Amino acid sequence: MNLLTYHSDYNKYDLGVDHPLVGDKPHNIMDRLREKGLLEFFDVLSPSPATDEDILRIHGASYLNKIKELSKTGGMLSYDTPAPKGIYEIAALSAGGTIACGSKLFEKYSISINPLGGFHHASQNQSSGFCFFNDIAIVIEYLRIKRNLKKFLIIDLDVHHGNGTEDIYLRDPSVVNISIHQDGRTLYPGTGELENIGEDMGSGHTVNIPLPPGTGSNAYLHAFNEIVPYIAVEYDPDIIIYQSGVDTHHSDPLADLNIAYQTYYHLARSIVQISEQTCNKLLILLGGGYNSTTCINAYENIFNGVLNKDKYLTEPDTFAFGNMTKVQATIKELKKILRNYWNFE
Ligand SMILES: [Zn+2]
Repeated sequence: MNLLTYHSDYNKYDLGVDHPLVGDKPHNIMDRLREKGLLEFFDVLSPSPATDEDILRIHGASYLNKIKELSKTGGMLSYDTPAPKGIYEIAALSAGGTIACGSKLFEKYSISINPLGGFHHASQNQSSGFCFFNDIAIVIEYLRIKRNLKKFLIIDLDVHHGNGTEDIYLRDPSVVNISIHQDGRTLYPGTGELENIGEDMGSGHTVNIPLPPGTGSNAYLHAFNEIVPYIAVEYDPDIIIYQSGVDTHHSDPLADLNIAYQTYYHLARSIVQISEQTCNKLLILLGGGYNSTTCINAYENIFNGVLNKDKYLTEPDTFAFGNMTKVQATIKELKKILRNYWNFE
């Protein structure tokens, strides 16, 4: 059995009309799972909000207070991130869902999913990119203390670079943070360069795979398969946190990696297999996706992959071959940069 966290208030994580982040996704995912008979494979848990203590393990007190204050009146957290009234309660609830998913993996589940999670742009004392609290880091620090975990692996496949998570763990060898994202020269937040591999003790533990616009499914899978399984198996983590953003899809209005539905199935299958080969503890945070109609199909395929279903959604993939030459060169270069840290054979 697997675990899914859900709360009806999840749909209040809505940054307003005319904003790309609308609040209907968690609800629509639940409807789709019910409709396709996939919900029966999950225990559904209604989470409690993360406490101040949980949040303060990552964020500064003045940052937390700022969000609480903004939440009373409504306002702007940053230029692209409105803070509607009540957002503190919803962001804390979302982080609580991620904590519950992480914690329950050490009771009776090997896979848990929070449909409202993966807020990777939030760093300790500032944020943008529609994120308030970095639930990835919050669950890592929770598990470090409460479950005595020592080694964490993040596989962040959202189309945007997870700059907040990177800032938090840049010098920390206990967290390997692999991010595959659209090249920062062409997309928000502009970071995640190939050469940035972490600093000091954390060198080699930050892995950035920036891909060009128009990458396409085949080149994307090439990048994933050449890097992720090797590092994951060699690192042998205590838990894997998979940020499964689907804003990589070709219909997404914010980005241009041109991935097709079937690719999400294959990526989810691969990550489940990596988990089974290592710690068998997989926490999935569904992350970004800004075409309300198509992102539910992409998420459905992640569930199909997680559940190892024979049938999954496919679509004609006219973008499949995209930018293979450039991606192959990037991967070759990355292996060279990381050769003192990881073995790719
Ligand atoms: Zn994103």
